[in-house]
Amino acid sequence: MNNPIIISDFYPELLQSSSGNAFVIKTTNPELFQDIYKLVNQNNKLHCIYFSDLSKSLSSIDFKPEWTGIPISVFVRVLGELKQLLPKLGIIRSLNLRLFLPAHPDENLTSIKILSSLGIPTGVFFIKGEKINWSLLNDLMYYYFYTINKHADIEPFKYIADHYHHTHINFNAVYFNHPLKYIFCNKFGITSLTEANLNDGKNGDLHISELNENWKNEKKLDFERDLMLNFKHLNACSVCPGWRICLSAFKEQIEENPGCTDFFTEMLDACEFYNKTRQNKPELCSL
Ligand code: SF4
Repeated sequence: MNNPIIISDFYPELLQSSSGNAFVIKTTNPELFQDIYKLVNQNNKLHCIYFSDLSKSLSSIDFKPEWTGIPISVFVRVLGELKQLLPKLGIIRSLNLRLFLPAHPDENLTSIKILSSLGIPTGVFFIKGEKINWSLLNDLMYYYFYTINKHADIEPFKYIADHYHHTHINFNAVYFNHPLKYIFCNKFGITSLTEANLNDGKNGDLHISELNENWKNEKKLDFERDLMLNFKHLNACSVCPGWRICLSAFKEQIEENPGCTDFFTEMLDACEFYNKTRQNKPELCSL
């Protein structure tokens, strides 16, 4: 069965009444990580814990060895004090973490580079209404694709490069926001395609026990139809070479903060380079 992955807050009763589903559990409380891991995996499978607290810095988090083996994506505002974070590096590296910082303020893009160079999987995310420094983001993208020195993955660059052969790529998947992969669910098990609809009580979708292959096929048609609306009228996105890897994700910023077209067009070249280099790697003999 190829059901969507369910995103919900931590609702023990819902988890106990469900079985055979994959869950992303959202929380702002690290004290719950172990309970979430144990309870979800009783009858279901934990895809990831989605920890998001934009009032926090990475350095303020008390990373614990007890979290070993738990997949966790961490979304916080800034790195914080490097000298406070460095003593925790050993533990951080031993955990199954991906650390995300927003593109704003600019210093975050340097912090992401530092974390990646220290071997920590990381990523950049974008907050609606916050201006992106395209030139610095371009530097980070170049660092990820072209630097020879060993460094850890940076999202969403890796996701885009790995899916480059697809006709169009929705990189919001790395933020658990992709209508063909994830579905949002309230404490009663009622699903919704978007988090906004779920919060507004505009559900009307299926109960998690009713999800099946047909759901996915129908949603795929809706998704493809929405994508094609981009080409109904001539606009910056409909003539943008980078559209297939951006899907108009930054259309609200185009007028006051242009630069996205150049950025995504350069990323097309970087993805070609990434995939060619990967193909040309010599096969090692097995030892
Ligand atoms: S890069 Fe900019 S112009 Fe191109 S598709 Fe994305 S938002 Fe539209």
